[in-house]
Amino acid sequence: MYQDLFDFRQGREGYYGQFGGAYVPEILHETLAELRAAFDEARHDPKFWRQYVEVMSTYSCRPTPITYCDNLTRLLGGAKIFVKREDLNHTGAHKVNNVMGQGLLMRRMGKKRVIAETGAGQHGVATATMAARLGLDCRIYMGEDDIARQRPNVFWMEQLGAEVIAVTDGTRTLKDAINACLRDWVESMSNTHYALGTVCGPHPFPHMVMYFQSIIGREAREQMQKQTGKLPKRVYACVGGGSNASGIFAGFLEDSEVDLVGVEAGGLGISSGKHAARIAGGQGCPGVAQGYKTYFLQDKEGLMNDTHSVAAGLDYIGVGPILAHLHDRGRVRFESATDTEVVEALKLTIRSEGLIPALESSHAFAAACREAPQLSPDDAILINQSGRGDKDIFTVADALGDERWKEFIQGKAAAYESAARKRGTL
Ligand SMILES: *Cc1c(COP(=O)(O)O)cnc(C)c1O
Repeated sequence: MYQDLFDFRQGREGYYGQFGGAYVPEILHETLAELRAAFDEARHDPKFWRQYVEVMSTYSCRPTPITYCDNLTRLLGGAKIFVKREDLNHTGAHKVNNVMGQGLLMRRMGKKRVIAETGAGQHGVATATMAARLGLDCRIYMGEDDIARQRPNVFWMEQLGAEVIAVTDGTRTLKDAINACLRDWVESMSNTHYALGTVCGPHPFPHMVMYFQSIIGREAREQMQKQTGKLPKRVYACVGGGSNASGIFAGFLEDSEVDLVGVEAGGLGISSGKHAARIAGGQGCPGVAQGYKTYFLQDKEGLMNDTHSVAAGLDYIGVGPILAHLHDRGRVRFESATDTEVVEALKLTIRSEGLIPALESSHAFAAACREAPQLSPDDAILINQSGRGDKDIFTVADALGDERWKEFIQGKAAAYESAARKRGTL
């Protein structure tokens, strides 16, 4: 089924069922064609994948291990729980798999400048890291409001040598940053690559990002067989745009006995309307935006809804077209987890295993913890821990109402204020 998905001879190139495509201004057709050609050539060259694996193993801890969670398994009393440790990657999440892959492709294309947009800032940090390592010019577009909320990530992007552009149009968030980035690309495509951060956007991005992220699933399939002597019964991954889920699922698509479960952000609950569960919430409908067709959370006029999640990386209106298609074909089941369930699952995982999953990844843990007790101790389930949770200290400490943390932040703020007063700058 994996190959089958990309066998475009059977259908329109870049479409997965009714989803996907490349809905971009005509001026970008040529540069997308150039990217398609470079990607097709690279993926048919066995040396390219070997070079990619080599880079990831010397720069980013690959292969990442699989951890058996015996305490959590005992507490929940059902299937044996295994965790794929994408949190151990450089920069703390799976995002580096995609950007390093695109960086190597840029080298083949001879492009020296990379641009990207970022919402929460994680993809911006990963891209700036890749650019520093490969010696590329880097510009990151970010909504002004997101910059204000995500100062630590902006700080690191700048330290890494990237120019961070504050986008002041519209809602000053991700959507506007995407538009600004596309405008830049239209003017700069001869020397510039747009490093898209997830399995969304126009063809060939969904295919290309899934290809690089498939390193997760390829490793995991082999590791599970080695560690347990068989394949897992179920694989759980959180779904924002869908790249970490596509990556781990890629290893198991052809194993029809393995259930694949994508977990979306249930936010404050589906009925509240404040969530990002495009598929599991049953409220998303097919539409075209941001260069591709998929299930979007939109109103009857096609205006995009506001989404909400405690996890910034899942707070997005669309979902990868390949996953949308795999849902329609019944290959991937979609579930959601609410902010409250996610924080509970995070607390349980930290206390019982000493793992600190990102809030995004904790969605996969929440769904797995809900279902594990119904399975037999002979079954193994695999959770993709897409990233580490240290980055979420501001959100998690707030969600847990930690008083000492509040005092710490207030103390810092007060110290800055009094120093500024002394300098006469306040
Ligand atoms: C960005 C991010 C996600 C969401 O992106 P996907 O493309 O859906 O994988 C999930 N987990 C972590 C840790 C992230 O940083």
